[in-house]
This record gives sequence, C-alpha cells and structure tokens, in this order.
Amino acid sequence: MKKIAVAGAGFSGAVIARELAQAGYRIEVFDARPHVAGNCHTARDAGTGVMTHVYGPHIFHTSNEKVWNYVRQFDEFMPFTNRVKAVTNGHVFSMPINLLTINQFFGKTFSPKEAESFLASLGDQSITDPQTFEEQALRFVGRELYEAFFHGYTKKQWGIHPSELPASILRRLPVRFNYDDNYYASTFQGMPKNGYTEIVARILDHPHIKVHLNTKFERSMDDGYDHIFYSGPVDAWFKHSEGRLGYRTLDFVPERHRGDYQGNPVINYCDEAVPWTRISEHKHFSPWESHDNTLIFKEYSRYCEESDTPYYPIRLAKEKSQLRRYVELASEERKVTFVGRLGTYRYLDMHVTIAEALDVAERFLACRASGQKM
Ligand code: UDP
Repeated sequence: MKKIAVAGAGFSGAVIARELAQAGYRIEVFDARPHVAGNCHTARDAGTGVMTHVYGPHIFHTSNEKVWNYVRQFDEFMPFTNRVKAVTNGHVFSMPINLLTINQFFGKTFSPKEAESFLASLGDQSITDPQTFEEQALRFVGRELYEAFFHGYTKKQWGIHPSELPASILRRLPVRFNYDDNYYASTFQGMPKNGYTEIVARILDHPHIKVHLNTKFERSMDDGYDHIFYSGPVDAWFKHSEGRLGYRTLDFVPERHRGDYQGNPVINYCDEAVPWTRISEHKHFSPWESHDNTLIFKEYSRYCEESDTPYYPIRLAKEKSQLRRYVELASEERKVTFVGRLGTYRYLDMHVTIAEALDVAERFLACRASGQKM
C-alpha cells in the first residue's frame, strides 16, 4: 500500500492520520515542533507541577455528540465549566455579559425581562444592519458596556480599532438575560484528565502511524506519497508567492507564586491602559488536582512576525483577497488537501477542527472506495 503524508501533528493531522491508519493506510506524520498537539500542547510545569496550557487556555466544548464521543475514547474528560471574570475600571464583573454583569454594572436588581428592555433602550437602534465589531456592540449593548468591556480589550487583542473589525468576532460572545455565566453555550464541556498532548499522542498511537518530530514538511519532501494532508500555513506551502497572510501572535509571560493568585482560571483585563489582555492561572484548569504553588500567564497580543507562532488569522480585506488567490492555487494541487486552522486560514475551535478532520478522512476514504481521486 502506498503511503500518506500528514503535515502537522495537531488535532487535524492526528485525527486524519488515525482514521486512515484504521482503514489500512500507512501514514507518516511530520511536525516542525518537538511535541505533538500543536497549539493545544499541554505539559507539566517543572517549577510547580501544574498542567500547563503552553500556548494559552484551551477549554474543550462542543455540541457535536460525535466529536464528544470521539475525544472521550482517548482520555477521561473531567467536569469543567469556563467561568470568566472581567476587570474594568477597578471592578470585577462576570463575562460574558449576563444578568449579574448588567445588574452590578448599573447598580440595579433587574429581572430578565427588565434587563432585556433596558439594554434595548441603551442599544443604538439606528444601526439596523451592523457590519463592524463596534456597530454590533453599540447596537446590542450600548456605548457604556461597549467601552467598559469590549473597546480596550479588542484594541489590545487585534491591534486595530473595533470599527475596522467584522461584527462576526463579537458574535462569538453571547449576551444573557439570566445568571448563566458559562462562557460557552455548548452542550458538552470538559478538560482532559491527562492534558491535550496525551490525547493527541494516543490518537497517533497506531501501528500504521509513524511520527517525525522536529521535521518541517515541505513540498520538496514529496517522494511519491499517494496523498498529502497539509495542516501547516497555506501561504508557506506556496512559498508566500501571494504575500504573507497576517496573524496575531500571543506572548505569555509566566510568573510563579505561592497559593492561589487570582482564584479563577481566566480573568480578562478590558482597560486599554493595562498592557495584557488576560491572565490565566493554570492550576484552575485542573480543579481536581491540588498544588501548593501556582503558575500564571500574563497574555499579550501582537502582530505575528515571520519567526513567531501564528494564532489568530486577521482576515481583513487585504488578507481575504490574498486568501482567495491561495485558495485558487490550493485547488490546483492534485494530491494535497489543506486542513485545519493554518491550512485553511480560519480561526477554529478544537471541536470544529476535529469534526472537519473526521469529515475529510471520511470523504477521502469514500473517494478511494469509488476509485476517484480526492
Ligand atoms: N472580547 C472583548 N472583551 C472580553 C472578551 C472578548 O472585547 O472580555 C472580544 C475580543 O475582541 C475577542 C472577541 O470578543 O476577540 C471574541 O471573544 P472570544 O472569547 O471568543 O475570543 P477568543 O480569545 O476565543 O478569540
């Protein structure tokens, strides 16, 4: 049987490799980094023993039962609900905006119905079809809440004014007229007991899969593979012929302390004057463990230079037209399938990545079964 190459050992690559290995293919997986799991990588911090989300917080949530059942084959998922706090102008609030946030912010005791009509009265009703992040916020929560919670944070996170960002970014966050402070609206949520790297390692643990770490896969390495699944940056595959696609990168500045530093896994800092966007305290991602000492990351966002780790695709007008050209080039590749966050230049949650990878593998196998090329 001919071999398949998978570039990238994050969730995309690992899931595709596993599905095809189980169908009898021989798979070679390559990753430039010294570990599997991509940006989901977790490792125990030597100083504190805390399980660390090395590339920032990753909380598993999904409403897709197939994905939930899939990941739970590889580790036990411990109960975990992401409850985020947000600091603005010297006060701590609950995030996403919910009834507690609204009542505390405005010093009220509104019922759900009262809060809903109050917020409607604050919203700018003249904006009928919000296009930008700022318009979306002004339309649905009004200027005071926008300035307190979104304006500064978003400027720090994206490096541009919210009036230049698409409304879709804010639509990721709900506004709730009850006391539900769960950050996600997904049906299932949890944290892998042994970390994400262990899960990915177990997905890749199959006699037909060979993993090559510290090995960046490039076009020139195609020595007759039957097919290539590429989850690296799409622009890098084409040697940046259409220019570099823009990303935001993150810097995590660690600090170690005794005891409990902030009493919560994630606290957002919404004021523009505070240079970090948020602080994560990693032992609170594993609340079933006990540690005397604690590790925190202060998180800073900036433009991603060539040597940095890409995180958030910027996807403004310039990048979108560049992307269109890369998509054309990609569609001309006969035996390469571009997958995942970097391969398709989209900001994907883990559960979406896994669902898409399962889908791609299924389509590939169906094509082969009917004698077609994918
Ligand atoms: N956001 C904000 N203040 C917050 C949290 C989020 O302004 O306290 C904005 C920010 O622009 C962010 C977007 O809402 O990019 C979506 O939030 P989400 O938590 O989905 O961002 P993620 O970190 O997952 O990209």
